[in-house]
Amino acid sequence: MTLQRKTGLKRSGFVRKPGSPFSSFANRATAARRTTMKRRAKKPTVAEGSKYLAACRGEPCYLRVPGVCRLDPNDETVVPCHENSLAAGKGMGLKSNHARTVPGCFWCHVWLDQGPAERAVKQSVFLPAFDEWEPVRARKMGLQEVIA
Ligand SMILES: [Zn+2]
Repeated sequence: MTLQRKTGLKRSGFVRKPGSPFSSFANRATAARRTTMKRRAKKPTVAEGSKYLAACRGEPCYLRVPGVCRLDPNDETVVPCHENSLAAGKGMGLKSNHARTVPGCFWCHVWLDQGPAERAVKQSVFLPAFDEWEPVRARKMGLQEVIA
């Protein structure tokens, strides 16, 4: 009795709309392709990673730490500053995530990397800087379609 009921429910799940026998196959193929693209976007290659670093070149400082930054729009000391240099496990096998970088001048970089400020304070500088920088970087790298 139980078996019969199970079979009945199962069968109703396989009902196809008449006239479009291949629609479910097409949908599955599209979904698979989408999944692949997503996975690729999440795992940038080394070459893609260095593109993020290169994008920081010639940029002004985005960190603009109050009292630290010289706020020079033509600052030539700007380098990519990594978010995960803020992590507690720095230097313990953590890989640098080049995508999570922001252009920062020498002074802000030192403040972020080696400064005595608390991690939460550093995060409160890094995160808005990253929000500001990311769309600029995307435009610079011609990756608008990935963001959208
Ligand atoms: Zn700065």
